[in-house]
Amino acid sequence: MTESPIQLYRPRTAIHPRSVAGRFRNAKYAALLLAYGVFFLLPWLRWTREVGPQQAVLFDLPARRFYIFDLVVHPQEIFWLAGLLVIAALLLFFVTGLAGRVWCGYFCFQTLWTDVYMLIERLVQGERPARIRLAKAPWSADKLLKLGGTHGLWLAVAFVTGLTFTLYWADAPVMTSRFFTGQAPFAAYATTLLLTATTYVFAGLAREQVCTYMCPYARFQSVMFDRDTLIVSYDRARGEGVEGRHKPDRELKGREARQDAGHGDCIDCGYCVQVCPTGIDIRDGLQVECIHCALCVDACDGIMDRLGWPRGLVRYTSQNALEGCRTRLLKPKTLGYGVGLLAAAALLIGSVADHPDIDVSVRQTRNPLSVTLSDGEVQNRYTVRVDNTSGRRLRLQLVVDGLPGAQIAVLPSPELLLLPEARRTVYVKVRLRPEPGQARRLTFRFRLQPLGGGESEPVSVPSQFYTR
Ligand code: SF4
Ligand code: SF4
Repeated sequence: MTESPIQLYRPRTAIHPRSVAGRFRNAKYAALLLAYGVFFLLPWLRWTREVGPQQAVLFDLPARRFYIFDLVVHPQEIFWLAGLLVIAALLLFFVTGLAGRVWCGYFCFQTLWTDVYMLIERLVQGERPARIRLAKAPWSADKLLKLGGTHGLWLAVAFVTGLTFTLYWADAPVMTSRFFTGQAPFAAYATTLLLTATTYVFAGLAREQVCTYMCPYARFQSVMFDRDTLIVSYDRARGEGVEGRHKPDRELKGREARQDAGHGDCIDCGYCVQVCPTGIDIRDGLQVECIHCALCVDACDGIMDRLGWPRGLVRYTSQNALEGCRTRLLKPKTLGYGVGLLAAAALLIGSVADHPDIDVSVRQTRNPLSVTLSDGEVQNRYTVRVDNTSGRRLRLQLVVDGLPGAQIAVLPSPELLLLPEARRTVYVKVRLRPEPGQARRLTFRFRLQPLGGGESEPVSVPSQFYTR
C-alpha cells in the first residue's frame, strides 16, 4: 500500500467575500479613510521652519535628521524610537487584552490595503456570485478584460503606495518630479519597486494567508486572550437551540414555532460566512484566522433585522458572558499593561519636552594626554563639538567648572554663535599649575553658557584633566 505524502501546506481556496452594510463596516470605512488620508497626504503637507526642509514630516537620512512637525530628531535622540516601539507594543497588549484583535480588524496595513483591493475587485468584476462565475468561466475576452482591469488597478494602487512611502524620505514635490524624469536616486526607484511588489502580492494575491501564516502577532495573541477578552462570537445556545440550526421553511417560519420545535435563531443562511474576508465560519468557534473585523456581526444583524428578531446572534462578547458569567474588562493583567503604557508615554513625552537645545561632546587629545610646559604648568587639549538642536540662533560661551586656577584657551573663540541646526567644533587648551601631592586625574566639567538671555538652559559635560 502506498502512503500518501504528508501535506505541510493546505492548498488555498479562493475567497470571494460578499459585500455587507452595517455599523462595523462603517467603522472600517472610517478607519480606512483616516489611515489613507494620513498616509497619502502627509508628505505633501508643508511646514514653515526657520531652517531645514519645509515638509511637515520628513525622514532626512543624508542630513541625519527626522523632521516631525516642530520636532527635529537627531541621531543622539534615536532612543525615542525605542520608546515609541515600547509604547506601541504595550498599546497593542492593552487593546488586545480588552478588545481582542481590534488592531487586525480595523487598523492593520494588511487589512486596510486588502479591503481596498477587494473594493476594486467588486467594482470591476461585480458582486460575489458574478466573481465566482467569472473565476469558473473559461478564458474569454470579457474574463481577460475584467481580470486585467483588476490587476492593473491593484498595481496602480501598489505603485502609488510605494511612491508615497518613498516621499517620506525626500522633499515630496522635488522627488516626484525627479522620479518621473529619471533623475531620482537609485534607492528611490528600488524602494518604490519593492513596496509596489510587496503591496501587490500581500494585498492582492496572498491576502488572508499573510494573517494566517506570516503574521507573528496572530500566533502570540492567544497568550493575551482570556475568558474576559472581547471576541467576535456566535451565540451557540441561542443559535442552535437543542435541535440545532434550521433553514426557515413553511412550518418553521416564526420564531416561536422554531423555538417550540427546539431550533435556535440561526436560519443557516450562510451570510456570515460569505462576508468573511478570511473565509471562515464564525459558528465553528474562535479560530486563529479570525481577524475580528466584525463583518459577520453586520451580516447577521442585517438578517435578524429583516426577520424582526433581536440582534446579537453573532456579536462582540466574551467567553464568560456567553456562559452567563460577568465580564471583567479591567483585570490586573490589563491594568498592568495600562499602567506600563502610561508610564512609558509619560517618560517619552517628558524626554521630548525636556531635551536640551544644545548637544555637546568632548574628545580629549590622547597622545600625549598631558604636556608639562617650561613654566611648570600642565596642559591638556580637547576637541569640543557643539550642536544647536533647536530652531533658534544661539550665542554661547564655553567655560570650565570644578578646576580652580585653570586657564582656558579656545580656538577660534570662547564665544560661539550657532545658527539653528548648526554645528561648531572648537579646540580647547586647559592649563593648570598642579599642587604638590595632587591626584594624577582630576574630574571637571565643560559648561556652555547661553549669552544674552533667551530660553536655553546651560549644558555641561564631564571631562578629565591629567596632571602628569
Ligand atoms: S448570518 Fe446569522 S442566521 Fe445566517 S448563518 Fe450566520 S449566524 Fe446563522
Ligand atoms: S469570522 Fe467574522 S470577525 Fe472573524 S474574520 Fe470572519 S467576518 Fe471577520
